[in-house]
Amino acid sequence: MAEVVVIGAGVAGIQAALDLAGHNIHVHLIEREPSIGGHMAQLDKTFPTNDCSMCILSPKMVDVSRTPNVTIHTCSEVESVDGEAGSFRVRVRKHPRYIIESECNGCEDCVHICPVEVYNRFDAGIGVRKAIYKPHPQAVPDIVIKDQEHCIECGLCYDVCGREAILREDTERFIDIEATSIIVTTGYGTFDARNKTQFRYLTIPDVITSLEFERMINASGPTGGKLRRLSNGKPPRGIAFVQCVGSRDIAAGRPYCSGVCCMYAMKNAMLIKEKNPGITVTVFYNDIRAYGKGYEEYYERAKDLGVRFIRGFPGEVLEENDHLVMVAENTETLEMETVHPDLVVLSVGLEPSGGAGDIAKMLGIPQDETGFFSIADQKVGRVLTVKPGIYVAGAATAPRDIPDSVAMGGAAAMRAYLDTLRAE
Ligand code: SF4
Ligand code: SF4
Repeated sequence: MAEVVVIGAGVAGIQAALDLAGHNIHVHLIEREPSIGGHMAQLDKTFPTNDCSMCILSPKMVDVSRTPNVTIHTCSEVESVDGEAGSFRVRVRKHPRYIIESECNGCEDCVHICPVEVYNRFDAGIGVRKAIYKPHPQAVPDIVIKDQEHCIECGLCYDVCGREAILREDTERFIDIEATSIIVTTGYGTFDARNKTQFRYLTIPDVITSLEFERMINASGPTGGKLRRLSNGKPPRGIAFVQCVGSRDIAAGRPYCSGVCCMYAMKNAMLIKEKNPGITVTVFYNDIRAYGKGYEEYYERAKDLGVRFIRGFPGEVLEENDHLVMVAENTETLEMETVHPDLVVLSVGLEPSGGAGDIAKMLGIPQDETGFFSIADQKVGRVLTVKPGIYVAGAATAPRDIPDSVAMGGAAAMRAYLDTLRAE
């Protein structure tokens, strides 16, 4: 059976794997994290329909895990690639999980007994996890991972696990795959808001990023969906969003529009208003880029719900007594506006995922000046690279929203499918 390697198991990679599996192609889905799903698994709702993100993604994650034509390799990264279209040789490095995957049933008895709590990257830093943990409740595979860096070897989890699934020692392994084609869906990273020192991210606890806010407003997140100030745990009376943090900013090395931040900020602003009409919501913006079908109407709905949009950027975030202060020139009225929010959300831009440069070198495919993978043709070959048999899709190519990423994942799958027909 023909085989295809998909690097990155976010929504674009999962879609590519499902489509290929449906054509009787065997797919190796490589994911460096302990669960598939990518960033979409962290989001609360999706724009412009406000559908629950996991309600869309989770069935796809389960489907892909149950499809015999897909082998999922989590905690894994591509080590080397050689060969050419039709006969690539891909070496995958699987990092140790310290768990016998076939034995763990995901009961989490070990998690409950573990005494060590550490920063939870999945909750974008506003929640904690244990040293042995399940990445999130809908993780696929539905098993735990032991974080050896923070484990104090107290031994409690080994004793409680009736299936003897937890390993004291584990090593990395290598898997060699022969593939007709390779699809790169490595997704995106987010701008490090500390680089915009004027907003005092990580200096003032009540200044958070949009990804942290996604986890906070998510009912399955660390606060159970309750909005809280991180400084004192109280509900905020006013929330302000700052757009284009790390987008359209030449000085920050991010000259491009991140494409999704206007929409995700509107979505979150609306969710606040729907759940907590008493909270004042202000969005500081430069331009509103509501370019997709139904997006302009979405913007109008946000305004109807009472979200205030101020065209202008605050120079900085200041602290005054119990609240924050932001002053901006409203470039529509030419008046100065002063806002006193309790919580500031920085709408951080998208950037190439960490490791994109290594993948580009390994595969011999170029990145553009922004660091995203170059595509061969903006009009009719959006998933093609300069190398035959290697395709790119989703936010690995540029900031993309979810529908675009899914469509590109499907398009790349069809290109890879055609390769397998040619190779027969
Ligand atoms: Fe349950 Fe053992 Fe798996 Fe922990 S390692 S989730 S205790 S089966
Ligand atoms: Fe947690 Fe490590 Fe103790 Fe297991 S051995 S309970 S992972 S600290």
